[in-house]
Amino acid sequence: MSTQAAFVSSTTIPTSPGSTSQFELPALPYAYADLDPVIDAETMQLHHDKHHRAYVDGLNAALATFPEYRGATLEWLLQNRMALPSEIRTAVHNMGGGHYNHSLFWQSITPRGAPPGIGLQRSLDWAFGSFDQFQHAFESAALKQFGSGWVYLVATPTLNYGLEIVTLANQDTPLDIGRVGLLACDLWEHAYYLTYRNRRAGWLKAWWDVVDWGAAAERWDRARPCVTE
Ligand code: MN
Repeated sequence: MSTQAAFVSSTTIPTSPGSTSQFELPALPYAYADLDPVIDAETMQLHHDKHHRAYVDGLNAALATFPEYRGATLEWLLQNRMALPSEIRTAVHNMGGGHYNHSLFWQSITPRGAPPGIGLQRSLDWAFGSFDQFQHAFESAALKQFGSGWVYLVATPTLNYGLEIVTLANQDTPLDIGRVGLLACDLWEHAYYLTYRNRRAGWLKAWWDVVDWGAAAERWDRARPCVTE
């Protein structure tokens, strides 16, 4: 325990500018029904107002007993999870991870879906052969994910921010494996069950129609230390 305490006390905890002591459920940038028929309004409302809120509330409840971490950024908490007190480590992993993944999920979709721009398109071709092959690999990886979790398009810093597909169990995040999340697709049944029932493949096929490629490209540009294109 002394090692952990020393680590924490010598580490500056970065806080968000103007952050409150509590994490907040981000408002959706569209109405619940705007993604219908790909995502029905009831699923959107339950997913955001109940599921995502539960992660935010759970994270805040855990941190309430450790005020020294209140105000820390979510990224810092997730990346320094193993140095946190054991009493909150699991909650930060599960609840903090859930808050992180869902925040990225809402930013990965849009009522105004459009194909990727030329820069991202070229890089997808380079990494996966073609856009069709990328989509096939993404869906295939998602179908192989056993149980709940996520499929992500990520940028990998150790590969010069090249593109990869990863799957993550439960509420693990790309931060856990040193990746930058560009697109997040939720594979928990609560994300698709009302419309697609047990057909995860149907959810994945439909999901392409609401992907926000512009937001993915912006995240990728922000992640890279310099854009060489
Ligand atoms: Mn979810």
